[in-house]
Amino acid sequence: MSWESNVRKVVPYVPGEQPKVTNIIKLNTNENPYPPAPGVAEAMKAYVKRSEELRLYPSPTVENLVKDLAEYYKLQEDQIFVGVGSDDVLATAFLTFFNSKSPVLFPDITYSFYEVWAQLYDIPYVKKPLNEDFRIIKEDYLGVNGGIVITNPNAPTGIAESREWVEDIIRANKDSVVIVDEAYVDFGGESCLPLIDKYDNVLVVHTFSKSRSLAGLRVGVGMGSKKLIQYLNDVKFSINSYTINRPTLEYASLSLKDENYFRTCVDKICATRAWTMEELRKLGFVMTDSKTNFLFAKHKEVPAEELFELLKTKGIYVRYFKAPRINEYLRITVGTQNEMETLVNVLGDYLCKS
Ligand SMILES: *Cc1c(COP(=O)(O)O)cnc(C)c1O
Repeated sequence: MSWESNVRKVVPYVPGEQPKVTNIIKLNTNENPYPPAPGVAEAMKAYVKRSEELRLYPSPTVENLVKDLAEYYKLQEDQIFVGVGSDDVLATAFLTFFNSKSPVLFPDITYSFYEVWAQLYDIPYVKKPLNEDFRIIKEDYLGVNGGIVITNPNAPTGIAESREWVEDIIRANKDSVVIVDEAYVDFGGESCLPLIDKYDNVLVVHTFSKSRSLAGLRVGVGMGSKKLIQYLNDVKFSINSYTINRPTLEYASLSLKDENYFRTCVDKICATRAWTMEELRKLGFVMTDSKTNFLFAKHKEVPAEELFELLKTKGIYVRYFKAPRINEYLRITVGTQNEMETLVNVLGDYLCKS
């Protein structure tokens, strides 16, 4: 017996590549191509003059950001939990709420981090296969379970279901916690946020990483009933009280206060998404009806892996999952209009020659 037999072993999540080179078109991790709200850069410059404050711990209850989030989402302050990115919110929620002998349920094709947390925390789980059209089969989530995770819109498929559809699952599961991961909801999904006043077992999770262009800042939000949020905070305060650093608290608030800029960027991305879908169809691609900032596309003849490698040689990084059922597809983040025009041109050149 060595110490290694007592190690909590886990196969970690594999994040998308963050290449060191700078002159590439990066469409592989669903980052926003536009800068964060201008107020954030101004606040960063101003913070330099107050940098001596960094000797002090940040607020453990992050009350100023919580207040701004409550105002933004029209919620009570005790309905809001803030984490270091939504990954932190989700990991804390898995640890807090999924403590049953019955399995937690989530789709076979979804955010692959869920399975990693379930394994890490020894949570039993079952992956329910999506149907042929990559849709979640509602009936799979109506039986006995230890919790449910629904990503809506789903990733990497980009497909969104209605609030009513998700509510059917919630209504049938009053004895377990239902997490609705809405990382992409701002790009065209229908949020389940209005349901948190109706059901005390629903946690809706949002992130500043995608629609707010702040992946580098690391801020995520969990929203639910007062009771649910209290349980999350109890676990958080049992691991690390000071999760969000001082400047981040201020920058996140400033992002919330520029609704105009936020809407403008989201609208630009949605317009570019529509344009790109049309162009890719002309080149022989088929794809799902994405309500996110990425496309899930496959070419009718040319294998996805070949296109993935081709694009890389041209300095365009997209995501390719070498996994069953989805290995014919590319997940392509919607970048700027210019970036997408380059992508379409490169693919057009290659496909017309071959
Ligand atoms: C990007 C993403 C997250 C994590 O985002 P953070 O940067 O940790 O906020 C969570 N869920 C889904 C489905 C995502 O795509």
